[in-house]
Amino acid sequence: MIKKVKGTQDLLDMRSYDALYKGAYQHFSTAHFTHIQTPILEHEGLFKRSVGEETDIVGKEMYTFSTNDREVFCLRPEATASTMRAYLEAAITTKPWQVFSEGPMFRHERPQKGRWRQFSQFNVEAINISSVAQDVRFISLLDDLFTRKLRLHDYVLSINYLGTKEDRAAHRLALKSFLDAHMAEICSTCQTRATANMLRIFDCKNEGCQALYTKAPYLTDHLSPTSQTAWQELQDLLGILSISWIHNPLLVRGLDYYNNIVFEFSSPLLGAQSTFCSGGRYDLAPAFDQKEAIPSIGAAIGMERLVLLLEAAGNPHTIPTKTPVFGILPFDESLNPLALLAHQTLHRAGLSTDIIIGGVKKGMKKANNDGIRWLILIGEQEKNEGVVRLKDMESGSEISVSQEDLTSYAQSLIS
Ligand code: ATP
Ligand code: MG
Repeated sequence: MIKKVKGTQDLLDMRSYDALYKGAYQHFSTAHFTHIQTPILEHEGLFKRSVGEETDIVGKEMYTFSTNDREVFCLRPEATASTMRAYLEAAITTKPWQVFSEGPMFRHERPQKGRWRQFSQFNVEAINISSVAQDVRFISLLDDLFTRKLRLHDYVLSINYLGTKEDRAAHRLALKSFLDAHMAEICSTCQTRATANMLRIFDCKNEGCQALYTKAPYLTDHLSPTSQTAWQELQDLLGILSISWIHNPLLVRGLDYYNNIVFEFSSPLLGAQSTFCSGGRYDLAPAFDQKEAIPSIGAAIGMERLVLLLEAAGNPHTIPTKTPVFGILPFDESLNPLALLAHQTLHRAGLSTDIIIGGVKKGMKKANNDGIRWLILIGEQEKNEGVVRLKDMESGSEISVSQEDLTSYAQSLIS
């Protein structure tokens, strides 16, 4: 009898998976993300150029084949490159383009618990927006999915700040002298990477290398003043939202396209393959020969690993119903913390909520275009008076609501 291909699975009871998928679907739909789907089959060059040739994925894990002499195809190993391709191919103008997708990925790795050759990811991207507030919103949505909706607690959110290309160049000089002094102690893969793509050494799974790298120069010690400010702002906003996290200075992630923030959610309940969600900020414009930057943030949840985790934690979970959309519009950056708190409170209360960052004029236009039903305006005056201004976008009428009463007032509007 022909058996299944090594490293693949027959999932004969998808109930946990479906509940999880529906939960994540609902969670991101009510945060104003759109469900999309891209093909499983792509041109090999898409990943070579965007993920990077010196990464594990492209260097040794891709399923590549050709049906004629001219074109080389592959089964997609990840979703971000495909999402960016789709974004550019369709000439999307929505800003930011907030989307999620779900489906199988393929990587030729050694099969073991939590590591398959075909596995599924739930992938979330906010494309073409650069803002620390957006980064924090993105992470807080993921964290709320795991903590609130799935009631998981036994996990750790690790974050590192990679800075800009220039920051990494400064860090590379320091790292090079460190590696030159320790070249004989590192594995042969790291020796190759030390010249080809130095930061990738931190990805090494070899324990000896990992122990040595705890003494290596940290990226966060080589940030420019601008990056340092952003890194600090990120930490402050995470604190304001009471998100628990740790700084892992060795976290670089296994793909080349990241800059600034990178993060991972992992749980000791999962054993060796402990990471169930990972992501970061990236700009794939150069890989697609785009002149303008396309600053974006994305994350992928490993669905099978999250199912394993839910089962290990013994958690039941429920799916709230969909409701109309509230929009929160801070008038300037200094009001982002207040806006983020309002967003967190409303979204946690199960209300469909988006946040609009980028100024009043553009924000009003965006709220209209997006069909926001009630707009929550937060200016300096509102902040000082402890209120928000709530605008009914259908009638145009406005009312002042105290920040304390916002959730109950918003709930009364839709009940
Ligand atoms: P790892 O270090 O575990 O190999 P990765 O850095 O290669 O992970 P990503 O490319 O960031 O992983 O993929 C996002 C998520 O997809 C991971 O956090 C993990 O949960 C899941 N994942 C990655 N590879 C596999 C696999 N072979 N089988 C099952 N899940 C996987
Ligand atoms: Mg991997």
